[in-house]
Amino acid sequence: MERVSINNIAFNIKEKSFLAKIATWKLGSTNVAMVLGSTVHLYGVDAAEFLANKKWVKHELCHINQFKQYGFLGF
Ligand SMILES: [Zn+2]
Repeated sequence: MERVSINNIAFNIKEKSFLAKIATWKLGSTNVAMVLGSTVHLYGVDAAEFLANKKWVKHELCHINQFKQYGFLGF
């Protein structure tokens, strides 16, 4: 697990996440980033690759903020 802070938003990155792996099956995708709480679960993509994709990171940061605002139950 890696701790990262971008735009003053601190979050964790978990590579080879089993939950993200399940999401790849469901989505029929080869790489997935999915946010649970303040952790980005990755599968099929490593942390460096994910962080290099600014658009993708920005999108996931939105989800982290949603979790902070509404908590787990909102999802
Ligand atoms: Zn999304």
